[in-house]
Amino acid sequence: MNSAEAQFSAHPPRRRWLQHLPYLSLTLFLAAIAALVWLTREYDDDAQRATLISDVLWMEQNLRFNLDRNEIHLQEIGSELLAAPALSAQTEARLASLLTPERGLARILWLSPEGRVLGAMPPLAAADSVTDASAEAPSVVVDESSLRLARGIGRAVYGPAHPAPGGAHHFEVHVPVWSDEAQVGIVVGVYSLSDLVMRELPWWFSERYHVAVVDSDGRRLAAKSKIAPVSPRLSYSMPFDPPGHGLTLQIAAYRSETRWIPLLLGASIVLLAGIIVWSVMQLRRQLARRQQAEVALRAESAFRRAMEDSMLTGMRARDLDGRLTYVNSAFCRMTGFSADELLGLKAPMPYWDPERIEQTYALHREILAGGSSADGTEVRLRRKNGEVLDVLVFEAPLIDATGRHAGWMGSVLDITEQKRAREHAVQQEERLQQSSRLITMGEMASTLAHELNQPLAAIASYTTGCINRLQDEAPLDRAELLDVHQRIARQAQRAGEIIRRVHDFVRRSEPKREPLDLNAVIRDAIGLIEADARKRGMRIRSELADDLPQVPADAVMIEQIVVNLVRNAMDSMRDTAPPEHDVTVCTAREGRFVTVTVADRGAGIPAETSARLFEPFFTTKQEGMGMGLNICRSIAELHRGRLAFESRPGGGTIFTLSLPVDAEIE
Ligand code: ADP
Repeated sequence: MNSAEAQFSAHPPRRRWLQHLPYLSLTLFLAAIAALVWLTREYDDDAQRATLISDVLWMEQNLRFNLDRNEIHLQEIGSELLAAPALSAQTEARLASLLTPERGLARILWLSPEGRVLGAMPPLAAADSVTDASAEAPSVVVDESSLRLARGIGRAVYGPAHPAPGGAHHFEVHVPVWSDEAQVGIVVGVYSLSDLVMRELPWWFSERYHVAVVDSDGRRLAAKSKIAPVSPRLSYSMPFDPPGHGLTLQIAAYRSETRWIPLLLGASIVLLAGIIVWSVMQLRRQLARRQQAEVALRAESAFRRAMEDSMLTGMRARDLDGRLTYVNSAFCRMTGFSADELLGLKAPMPYWDPERIEQTYALHREILAGGSSADGTEVRLRRKNGEVLDVLVFEAPLIDATGRHAGWMGSVLDITEQKRAREHAVQQEERLQQSSRLITMGEMASTLAHELNQPLAAIASYTTGCINRLQDEAPLDRAELLDVHQRIARQAQRAGEIIRRVHDFVRRSEPKREPLDLNAVIRDAIGLIEADARKRGMRIRSELADDLPQVPADAVMIEQIVVNLVRNAMDSMRDTAPPEHDVTVCTAREGRFVTVTVADRGAGIPAETSARLFEPFFTTKQEGMGMGLNICRSIAELHRGRLAFESRPGGGTIFTLSLPVDAEIE
């Protein structure tokens, strides 16, 4: 197809869509992988967050439980502390057990119902202020309002956090102590925030989380931390109540160590995806290169096919078994069989001449054994429609791409027309020879005259002798007379013989009329005389009318007229300078006649000779015979036509042969 490139450049939409399919699926695949990684991370984060929340809740419960338990212990020990002015050893031991850092309690004070400090453990130093919260960092601050509230409601009340010496922060719990329905005093437990947070939480909790206590102003009052950085995404804040008063617990998970396996997994997925993208691109490039090669190949084969189709030479290939593997269109045209009818066939082929099967077989075997000769092998075949087909076959070994002898490739030339032309030429030559005999009629006539002259002269002289004897008075010698008459008879016989010979000769030149293409006859005639013209350095130009009707005539005779006229024209231009000496032969239709004119630029025909031109034996040439024009005119008249001449304007002569188009064929 002429559209090999078009096919390449303009893919149908379906194919273009298919082309993008790998990229689309690859993109979707990568998106799915990315989504999977992201979801896994999210799931991981959610799981961590859920763990964080449950851990925080556990921690909060734990702290609350601890504080509640301490509250109970303080209440219990409170009644002992407030009952006796001096502490028993048992009470002291219980106090000591309460004041361990694990419980978070830094000091325990016991106060009278009025709020007077009755005792403290560890005991208060003289400098320790009890109520002045404005001091820089008092070790003990008993918050009045909390105290009052605890006293008022009769339940434990927690006070606000306040700074303590050493950068620590404390808060108190005020626990009213009852005895027999009456408040006997208040026990104040002073908690150290950092002890509470640090000691109270188990080691695994502090391994995982950073815990800080922040007041309402956002100041960090206590913290339990390692140096490791925290993850801002995994943090949680909750009110630290009790003790309340705006305290908040902030818990943040430490940034976990880089988890190498998922990371490596992700990296390898990315790497693999990259490799896939790269290989798809490579594949595509290769595909494009392949497609280009395919298009080039298609163009090449289209070109070759066009070349093969335009060829006039038939081509056919056979494998080593003689089976037809390829035929071109010229071969199909020649034989009349289609390629489908021929391919795969073995000898005898359908286009072989049935009358020459054996000879063709022999040639076939010869060709398969070693190819054809360099000049080709002539074979007669038969077309599908039964016409005879003469061909010249040139066979050569067919070598395939691997260099193996795979069969035979034959080029087949149709030489039917050439052969016909050759045969025709031979016939023509024969007839030409006959006609040339006609042309030399003059010579024959003179010889005839000369030959007839002798017997006639002899007869005349014998007859004169006899007459003389008869006129003489002397007696006649019968024997002598018989002898003379026998001589006369012999001479007459000789003359008769001569005439019979001429008759035989003439009989062969009877005109054979058939519808004729005058132009073709003229071309043949020019072909005959062209060599002579070339020898003389002259040219014969022809101007032949296209629409010439056929005329009934004898081709050989008409050809002879043209040859004669052209030869005369060339003879007349012996002394004409080169650029002028062309002979022009034209054909035209004039009414019911077809005319052939032969014009030259020769010496022309003087008036005195023009009257005798057609006379037999009239010639102005040394070697001339003077019979040519005479015979030409006779032939013209034989065809009911005319041969005339006129002088050509500008010098030279024009001879015109007119032949009627509608003359009856006799
Ligand atoms: P031949 O050619 O043997 O002389 P032809 O009968 O053909 O016999 O010609 C007779 C004569 O007519 C020629 O000798 C020549 O003098 C004259 N003739 C014929 N054709 C031409 C011509 N084209 N131009 C001049 N003279 C011509």
